This record gives sequence, structure tokens and C-alpha cells, in this order.
Amino acid sequence: MSRFLDERLASLTPYVPGEQPRDMRYVKLNTNESPFPPSPRVAEALSKERINRLNLYPDPEALGLRCALAEHYGLRESRIIMGNGSDELLAFCFMAFCGQGRGVAYPAVSYGFYPVYARLCCLNALEIPLRDNFTVCPSDYFWLGRTIVIANPNAPTGIALPRVQLESIAAANPDNVVIVDEAYVDFGAESALPLIEKYENLVVIQTFSKSRNLAGMRLGFAAANEALIGDLNTIKSSFNPYNLSRLACLAGEAAVRDRLYFAECTGRIMRTREELSKALRALGFTVLPSSANFVFAAPPRMSGGEYYLALKARGVLVRYFDKSGLRDFVRITVGDDAQMRVLLDKTAEILEEPK
Ligand SMILES: *Cc1c(COP(=O)(O)O)cnc(C)c1O
Repeated sequence: MSRFLDERLASLTPYVPGEQPRDMRYVKLNTNESPFPPSPRVAEALSKERINRLNLYPDPEALGLRCALAEHYGLRESRIIMGNGSDELLAFCFMAFCGQGRGVAYPAVSYGFYPVYARLCCLNALEIPLRDNFTVCPSDYFWLGRTIVIANPNAPTGIALPRVQLESIAAANPDNVVIVDEAYVDFGAESALPLIEKYENLVVIQTFSKSRNLAGMRLGFAAANEALIGDLNTIKSSFNPYNLSRLACLAGEAAVRDRLYFAECTGRIMRTREELSKALRALGFTVLPSSANFVFAAPPRMSGGEYYLALKARGVLVRYFDKSGLRDFVRITVGDDAQMRVLLDKTAEILEEPK
């Protein structure tokens, strides 16, 4: 640390992304990326002519992409803002809606970025414990007098709340913003998008990184009523008006317009997830019911940390959280059939080893 760093940020612990080791080729099941390439229409959209126009700034409003999303979800494009990844929009929400003594609340077990943003913005943060079965209990979030952030499905548990329960949280906090982070919603959960008409305090955030196979392009969007979107646009335009590159806008639009490919990829992930859960349970694992593109699973007769290391030694990377209440578990991204076969073969090998 230099002697010039703002002392309020001296204790900032940055977000730790899943490891990306280069010492060997791993079966990489630790960052919830899609095992499938983006829609073939994405490569077609990124033509040489388009690349040759990178001398020009992109459209700061990303209108083409917002219109494609508006059409896809039956929303008005004035109710959508694009982000350079949904992380950027989450950060804008923390900047816009959580300050001035209002503070923010989120589940104590959830996306690792929430506490980081709270610290970065010097906010008062309340972490609300999960219930015993790893679920978010909606009534724990009623009348909090704080801005609320909930990942639905939650991470790393994969457990989703039904839409009516999110609605009850929005209804019970009429004077505070409720942010629903739907990074994994396309793998079988109910989206809160239809509720933004009815609740002026609701922001729904989605990403292209998981279900649209575009983690490398950095694309996300938020949907809310025009007033909230206006606030987020004010932050965006005060920070980075051209937050999406020209290529990202084109790639995103092509991906959204390929509904068939999207349905095919998400469908395959959901089928593989059910097969994986069943196979792990047959080996004696505890597997939480997942509505996401990963499973949170606890191996029999060993800790999550031991299992993680044994898999890593055999060339398979999963995510382990060294955190109270989570140490029995690992989070495994649902990959393609070949990756799942390797994972299950190595797992059987590990379980058979004498201890
Ligand atoms: C992956 C993820 C995101 C962020 O994704 P971006 O790549 O920044 O769009 C946001 N929230 C949760 C819960 C995630 O798992």
C-alpha cells in the first residue's frame, strides 16, 4: 500500500475472483461460466467492417441492444440501462441508493461482491443470516429501513425464491429500493421483471455472463421504472458514459435475438444439473436444490476443503469458500457432459481412496 491511499480505503478487501491458474489445463468448474460458445450469430455480427469502425465511440445509450432486450422481455426500452457486466450496475446501485445513513442489507451468505461494494462506498451494511436449510427467509427483510440486495437464485447455494416472495419484500419496503440480482434466473427460477411495473422501488439486474455465454464480453442490464433508471443513468454518465464498447453492443444484440440457441443452451445446462445432482447424491453427497448453473454440494466423510484439494490435484477446479457454515461444501459449475464425466470419475476415485 502506498502512503497516498485514502485511509478510508486502507482496509478494503477486494473481491477474489475464482482462480485462473496457468500451471496446467484444468477442467474449469469454478467460475460459473457457460461451457458453450456464444450464439454463432455473435461471430457473424463482429464483422471486419464493424471492427473497422472502432475509430468511432459507441452509442452511449446502447439503443439497439436495449430495444432487443425490450422486445425480448416485453418491456419499454426506457426502463432498461446497460452495464459493463452486471457488476457495474450493482456498483451504480450501491452508489445511488444506499448512502446518507440509509445503509444496505443483504444475506450473510450471498455474492461476494456485495460486502466489497459496501466497503468501497463506505456504507453501513447489515448481513442477515440464512435460515438453517440455507434459505433466504423473506420476512427477515420486511420493514428494514435499508436498501436491500438479494441474489435470486442465491449464490453459492443455488436456491431460488418464488416471485411472490420477492414481491412481498418489495411491498414491505415501499420507502427503500429492493435490488434483485438475477444472474442465474434463466436456469429455472422465476424472474421479478414483470413486477417492475407495479413496484416503483424495484430494480432487477441480469447478466449476459452465464445464460448467454458471454462472460468475456462484459454485459449486463438493469430494469426498473423510468425514475430509478434515470438515477442510474446519472451515475453512469458521471462515471463512464461509453461503458459498452461497439463490439459488446453488437454481440449482445445478436445473442438476445437468437432465442432458439439461448433456450437450447439453458435447457442443456438444466438437464445436466439434474443428472449431476442425482449422481452426486448416489455417491453420498448432500446437494442443495439448485435453480442455477452450479450445484452446492457436500461430500461424504470429508470436508469441502479436502475434496476441493483432491479434485485440484486431479486437474478439476471447483470453488471452495473458507467461511463459517460453508466449509462442508464446494460449488461446482455445471459444464458439458464430458466435463461432468471427468468430475464424477475423479470424485469416485477420491471417495475410494483409503484415508
Ligand atoms: C456472475 C454474477 C454476477 C456478475 O456478473 P457480470 O459478469 O459482472 O455480469 C452478478 N451477480 C451474481 C450473483 C453473479 O454470480
